[in-house]
Amino acid sequence: MKYVKLRKDGRPVWGVLQGQEVRTLTKPPFEELCYDGESLPLAECDLLAPCEATKIVCIGKNYYDHIQEMRSMVDASHNPERPTLFLKAPNALNVPEGTVHAPGFVGRLDYEGELAVVMKRRAKDVPEEEALDYVLGYTCLNDVTARDVQKSDGQWARGKNMDGFAPMGPVLTDEVEPDHLELTTRLNGAVVQHSNTELLITGVGKIIAFITASMTLEPGDVIATGTPAGVGPMVPGDVVEVEIGGIGVLRNHII
Ligand code: MG
Repeated sequence: MKYVKLRKDGRPVWGVLQGQEVRTLTKPPFEELCYDGESLPLAECDLLAPCEATKIVCIGKNYYDHIQEMRSMVDASHNPERPTLFLKAPNALNVPEGTVHAPGFVGRLDYEGELAVVMKRRAKDVPEEEALDYVLGYTCLNDVTARDVQKSDGQWARGKNMDGFAPMGPVLTDEVEPDHLELTTRLNGAVVQHSNTELLITGVGKIIAFITASMTLEPGDVIATGTPAGVGPMVPGDVVEVEIGGIGVLRNHII
């Protein structure tokens, strides 16, 4: 299934994408699909971030080539069996084609293209081999980062979590294999990140097992799985795209 979330008559609703048509639903598609009997052309939809996040759990340092480029920020205790977790809150969510704006005190605003996972069921202490049964689908996410703030603060809450710093979408799909997805980030059309989720140090199933050993994930919660090498700055006027094969292109505008 392919899902989208959209604004319809001023309210957020979910829909199922069939071809270029969106069949709208009466409630989030976590357990059962309740169609409202209407459909809209995808091109006319005002798309939203396809989640119902109470939290966005992010994985830091999950591709070796990104660890290499960020070596100044990686301490000697980094252990692939214990992924680095941090949180974004729902205020950071942003929409496909949405604008990203950093406060004036931010000196360097970076893109980080990532595969995102949206949960279908409440998950706690989930074994790795059952983890993908708890997933509603996969989508693109840009883990926008105020890099200078992240470095100067000594922890990541402020630099990672400003309003609009988590664009995600456009489509959420369960029709892909999460550990074999090509990921490309483009800045003004030029490829700046190109990798494959095969290269994730900790794969999606293991990530879910690791997170849910510590905290409950709710239906609609989001996991951002980490970014590969090539992170870099954005400035007002830039257009940034995160594309994942089989999912689509998340495009945002820096203002
Ligand atoms: Mg990241």
